[in-house]
Amino acid sequence: MQILIFINVAVGTYYFMSVMQTVLHRYYGHKQRIRAVFEAHAIRHHGQYPPSKLQTEDFVELESHALYYYGIPIVVFLAISYLAFGPLVTTAYMVGVLFTFVWHYYLHRQYHLNESSLDRYAHGHAQRLSP
Ligand SMILES: [Zn+2]
Ligand SMILES: [Zn+2]
Repeated sequence: MQILIFINVAVGTYYFMSVMQTVLHRYYGHKQRIRAVFEAHAIRHHGQYPPSKLQTEDFVELESHALYYYGIPIVVFLAISYLAFGPLVTTAYMVGVLFTFVWHYYLHRQYHLNESSLDRYAHGHAQRLSP
């Protein structure tokens, strides 16, 4: 039973983080609510990768310091999770958070590379969508 709880929380955290990342991208990455996040993402990252040039030979690291802002809600949810549900759920939550970061970082890198290791799965979809 505990393994099912662990898997459900970890997978649920992944989907929750994915939705939150999408929402935060639009509401903070593209609006001047937090200046450092807006500059790192909308100005520098999208400046480096405009819709007309989404791929480069090497991935350009520009916004990693802005990721620290994601740490604030993550730590708040971690504290709530520990106080309300204990160590099993909190550990599953942390696994879900870590997997989300690693997987999304990998996908984002591959998205911007001229020769992505994921191209073999494209099956003729040469046109990548604008982020
Ligand atoms: Zn990007
Ligand atoms: Zn964006």
